[in-house]
Amino acid sequence: MSRPSPDHRPSTTPSGRPRPSVPGSGLAKGLAVTLRTMTKKTVTEQYPDALPDLPPRTRGVIGLFEENCTVCMLCARECPDWCIYIDSHKETIPAATPGGRERSRNVLDRFAIDFSLCMYCGICIEVCPFDALFWSPEFEYAETDIRDLTHERDKLREWMWTVPAPPALDPGAEEPKEIAAARKTAEKLAAAQAEPTEPKAQAEPTDPKEGEGQS
Ligand code: SF4
Ligand code: SF4
Repeated sequence: MSRPSPDHRPSTTPSGRPRPSVPGSGLAKGLAVTLRTMTKKTVTEQYPDALPDLPPRTRGVIGLFEENCTVCMLCARECPDWCIYIDSHKETIPAATPGGRERSRNVLDRFAIDFSLCMYCGICIEVCPFDALFWSPEFEYAETDIRDLTHERDKLREWMWTVPAPPALDPGAEEPKEIAAARKTAEKLAAAQAEPTEPKAQAEPTDPKEGEGQS
């Protein structure tokens, strides 16, 4: 079987790339790319000397706003890693009015997240119906002892103060219901305070003689 002459070789390689027409041109192209890259500005982050400029929705750590938590346990049930630990007890609230009914409420005893197990999926934050959990972009909490990666309630609260403010709404977006309700209440109060208080008209003394002789 005769070999095909070099002049009749296909113009592309088996991988689909064009065959180099001049011997050594591939090497020259490779060197050109190397030179271009060498002269480009470096993009290496100088961490920890310079902190990275992180996007606002970075998933660094989870903060707990305890006042909003009703101990509904939804986050702990939905967490795929089972790394949220919640303990609570019930407390009875006396009736507000005589003859009324006593009520009970859940009191939080422990809320902890084990960040050595957490996979930062954000499900707990999504499912919380009371806005008690938030993402913070803080990420510098590496520990030498893995047990220290379980953050208890006090530490989770501390992270809350590092949660960035929500981004501004689009100019054409509808006003959130909560803000609209608060604004209306504030406007009503301001209007009530601004109303001038008219002095009560003094009742004119009635003349006891008035009407005499008419009967
Ligand atoms: S981010 Fe995901 S894995 Fe981490 S605590 Fe929340 S639900 Fe669990
Ligand atoms: S889902 Fe929200 S309110 Fe319910 S226990 Fe978790 S943090 Fe608290």
